[in-house]
Amino acid sequence: MRMTTHRHTRREFIRRTSVAAAGAPWLAAWSSRAGAADPNRKIGFALCGLGSLSTGQLAPALQATQHCRLAGIITGTPAKAAAWKAKYGIPDKNIYNYETMVRLADNPDIDVVYVVTPNALHAESAIKAAQAGKHVLSEKPMEVSVEKCQKMIDACRAANRMLAIGYRNRFEPHTMECIRLAREKVFGPVKTIEAGFGFILGDPNQWRVKHALSGGGALMDVGIYALQTARYISGQEPVEVSATETKTDLVRFKEVDETMAFQLKFPDGVTASCRTSFNSGSLNSYMVQAEKGWFGLVPAYNYGGVQGRRSDGKPIDGPLVNQFAAEMDDFSQCILGNKPTIVPGEEGLRDVKIMMAIYESARTGKPVKLA
Ligand code: NAD
Repeated sequence: MRMTTHRHTRREFIRRTSVAAAGAPWLAAWSSRAGAADPNRKIGFALCGLGSLSTGQLAPALQATQHCRLAGIITGTPAKAAAWKAKYGIPDKNIYNYETMVRLADNPDIDVVYVVTPNALHAESAIKAAQAGKHVLSEKPMEVSVEKCQKMIDACRAANRMLAIGYRNRFEPHTMECIRLAREKVFGPVKTIEAGFGFILGDPNQWRVKHALSGGGALMDVGIYALQTARYISGQEPVEVSATETKTDLVRFKEVDETMAFQLKFPDGVTASCRTSFNSGSLNSYMVQAEKGWFGLVPAYNYGGVQGRRSDGKPIDGPLVNQFAAEMDDFSQCILGNKPTIVPGEEGLRDVKIMMAIYESARTGKPVKLA
């Protein structure tokens, strides 16, 4: 905390005294030196939780970023620490476990903690990181309850640190083009949105099927992408949700949803019909029907290979980027430029709130109104 608090205090001091500095040469010299923090410096990331996403995607993506570097790791498994140290040349002083995270406060190499643990453990590490003066990037879903999301927001706010949620596809060019088509009403006003994302779940013992660690099944894990699509394409917040859950495997999915169909109503009459499943290899698309045509993505949510279509036959073009690298670079730019992120904690909280309403509707069989 000392390092980042100092940095922050110094920045505040410079801001407050910038006018005075004009008439005080020593102050001008001091503030220009203090303010000379290199805007091109690379933001140091510590990955917290070295499972499949960190190993297969995030660590390689960090090597492809322009503004970030893999500076540290936080893991509960000593063998992983040794392997990552050897592979990425991480010094011992930048290797932590969940108990020693408090010591991050003394480590200026690390600016951001990227929380990549099971869903129900995000708040714990995010709050520790914020209290140690680090910015936080948390994987989706933000947490398993509205209350825990709010605690993450409050902790980052109290520490004056930035908080972002890992909505990688908000940085995916085809997705961004679809958002433009909707916002600029290129095909007229949007009327309906159909979105679905699912996959066939492997290991039957993983945390994703344990409610205490996941907070829910397919909806929390990948249905959130369809929900995000409905929100960023409509550009509005839903006023009502209704949902139906179906299960083919009552043993495996005893604690969590296997398949969920959910509908969202938006204030201007736009409706979204979404589907998510741990038992479907084909759900991975969205289509938007507007007054004068349609557009969408198939596949929509893959790490790579996203493709678009529109009813007038024109292409939905865009480079195939590393979405994780783009997401981390954007967060770094926000930190370096002191700019707001487009994926703040409040965005994560909104999704969790809506997903809780979807679960309530599936449980009660009735539509749930959202404030
Ligand atoms: P994973 O099971 O492969 O890894 C989880 C890590 O957390 C492991 O290293 C594990 O050791 C650690 N962990 C710490 N405490 C644990 C505990 N009590 N129980 C189980 N594991 C514990 O999971 P993952 O696929 O890497 O997912 C991690 C997070 O990333 C989740 O929130 C998930 O939703 C998210 N995720 C996001 C994307 C994306 O595209 N943005 C993709 C996959 C996963």
